[in-house]
Amino acid sequence: MTEEERLVSPRRQIDDLGLEVGLRPRRLAEFVGQEEVRCNLQLAITATQARGEALDHILVHGPPGLGKTTLAYIIAQELGVGFKSTAGPVIERSGDLAAILTNLQFRDVLFIDEVHRLPTVVEEILYPAMEDFRLDLVIGQGPGARTLKLELQRFTLVGATTRAGLLTPALRDRFGLLLRVDFYHPEELTQIVSRAAMVLGLDIDPEGAAEIARRSRGTPRIANRLLKRVRDYAQVHGDGRITREAADAALVLLNIDQQGLDRMDRQILLTILEKYDGGPVGLDTLAAALCEERDTLEEVYEPFLIQSGFLQRTPRGRVATRRTMEYFGKMVRREQQPSLF
Ligand code: ADP
Repeated sequence: MTEEERLVSPRRQIDDLGLEVGLRPRRLAEFVGQEEVRCNLQLAITATQARGEALDHILVHGPPGLGKTTLAYIIAQELGVGFKSTAGPVIERSGDLAAILTNLQFRDVLFIDEVHRLPTVVEEILYPAMEDFRLDLVIGQGPGARTLKLELQRFTLVGATTRAGLLTPALRDRFGLLLRVDFYHPEELTQIVSRAAMVLGLDIDPEGAAEIARRSRGTPRIANRLLKRVRDYAQVHGDGRITREAADAALVLLNIDQQGLDRMDRQILLTILEKYDGGPVGLDTLAAALCEERDTLEEVYEPFLIQSGFLQRTPRGRVATRRTMEYFGKMVRREQQPSLF
């Protein structure tokens, strides 16, 4: 199974698209959790609304699936302005960005996902656009080249990134507001699952919602995806009602354990434990041992394992924690299995 097909991958998958549009909260009041982010945003929005100005540029950073795109939509909704969405790797030439920028109206929100992946030439024309709402376009080449200056409407750039550390300081400094989204608490995810079930017209017990939430790795995107799978299970094997038992049985069938770990997580942790004596092991070595890309390991798998205390990142490499040893110790004894994957 590739990372793209993995049920508990926090990255957006093709199957998520239809579901996410319907389930996305539209107003700040419907956005569950991330208290600090919501307070800061509400304050900034209320103040700029009162002044009739464009909102400061905002950088939202944090792991995938936690609501960065959703927040960008919400900002436009709350401001009552137009919304345009694109992504860093999609904008290849400065002309592509110029076309987008010149079409923005006063106070519109431009959302750039994966903003750390903008090509350098594109990033350079973004600087004056963000700072002075001006485009400096170079027309032609060589001695005959000339610069065309264009005035832009005041707009708000909302940039999202999973890797704030990869942003150039010049770009980061041009954002007025930095917001960090973090993994959700199980109670917040329970609310998100219950809300999604209501939108989808599903019959769900509070315990059923809590069970899905507990195993969703603190990530709303995964919670919504698991809800969909549990719904199918409850429909086929029961009367359609999502109870705790139905959720548990469906997730066991999907190989997602009580902690939300799947096969690949267990494989990562066991590799560190068994092949490298619990670590430290360098990221490149680990990636090679698992036949996985270094970036995927760092960006997709690790954040949850670190946050939930299974893995530690040290200057000398990755280290399995006591929790990991206890986790496998318990599983081996209980299930009496010689091999866990
Ligand atoms: P990101 O851009 O960080 O990868 P998204 O904004 O696309 O994540 O969120 C993924 C899905 O999770 C959304 O479609 C939405 O349904 C759900 N979601 C994210 N954050 C929340 C939240 N705070 N409350 C309710 N649903 C949320």
